[in-house]
Amino acid sequence: MRTGELFDLLRDGRPWTRAQLAEATGLARSTITARIDTLMRLGLVAPFGGARSTGGRPPALFAINPTAKLVVGIDVGATHARAALTDLNGTILGEVDAQIAVADGPEPVLAWVVESVRDLVAAGNRPIEDLAAIGIGLPGPVEHSTGRPINPPIMPGWDRYDVPGHLQEQYPVPVLVDNDVNIMALGERRRHLRDVDDLVLIKVATGIGAGIVSGGVLQRGAQGTAGDLGHVRVPGADDILCRCGNTGCLEAVAAGPALAAAVRAQGESAETGGDVVELVRAGSQPAMAVVRQAGRDIGEVVATMVNLINPSVVVIGGQVAGAGEHLLAGIRESVYHRSLPLATEHLRIVTSRAGGEAAVLGASALAIEHVLSPEVVEAASEALAAADAEAEAAGA
Ligand SMILES: [Zn+2]
Repeated sequence: MRTGELFDLLRDGRPWTRAQLAEATGLARSTITARIDTLMRLGLVAPFGGARSTGGRPPALFAINPTAKLVVGIDVGATHARAALTDLNGTILGEVDAQIAVADGPEPVLAWVVESVRDLVAAGNRPIEDLAAIGIGLPGPVEHSTGRPINPPIMPGWDRYDVPGHLQEQYPVPVLVDNDVNIMALGERRRHLRDVDDLVLIKVATGIGAGIVSGGVLQRGAQGTAGDLGHVRVPGADDILCRCGNTGCLEAVAAGPALAAAVRAQGESAETGGDVVELVRAGSQPAMAVVRQAGRDIGEVVATMVNLINPSVVVIGGQVAGAGEHLLAGIRESVYHRSLPLATEHLRIVTSRAGGEAAVLGASALAIEHVLSPEVVEAASEALAAADAEAEAAGA
């Protein structure tokens, strides 16, 4: 077992003694001591304070050191952006947000990101060298292996733009890019559903998409487009044209703009999904009926997902989730009607609790998972060993 894998054990957050680590890994105590020493020099592990007082020398305890490094999680939405500085536990240390349009193109948006990272780290009274990684969520499809957006419909100028390369000109750290719905799923899980290994987060806003966690792992699919369910065809909507050029798409009948149009047709005034949510909260019967029907349409597609991947929790997030029970009731109606009894027996369908913070928390989690992964920790410990060997050779 290598240093990176040993560190993986310590990631449970509990303090460990050398003897416990030796027993858990089968490694010799001397090997454990050398590897803990390496992890302490990397700052990732620190002695743990809770020593016993009952006679004799207390066994030394070691635990992960969450304050060793910092990451910044960034959520770029259609018309707003938010950035949060966190430690390696995902605890938010500072936040900034701005009204900025993703449609303005990558240069102004990424200039804001560069400035926000610098400001957040400075406000945390930490040197920029403590920044270990940046996680960023974008409102469109992202090729996971390169971090480049691919044909994003609401992001003119961003197609195949090298987002990591641009940010790394300023900050020479790993930059992880994903779509907004995937990071929301990670953030919701990290904050409120840590023990849930199978969940789906459905974002209902200007578009509709899903982030899928299966067996504890975010599922991106071959190209990174898994969960893009906004353009699945729903029954009975063949005459409705979608912005993608097809007809009858889920997004064309149940996303924010479609709901606003349906409410306007009933004589109410609404421009966005947010306006519809306001009307629901104010008790508008037509708005409630429109939202409930949207819930049924979304539920048709969610029922298929439930049958395919058997999640234990379906989380509804995004602006339209603000309509709460009116939306959930429609979704439940379709899902329980259309899914197998065994799949729905313990299924929970809930609204997001992390809300507006889900995305930055998830972007931070994306960065933390990378920084603390066994491969990255192993590479850092090998680099340290190589530097030691070089120093020794130079001194000899
Ligand atoms: Zn479509």
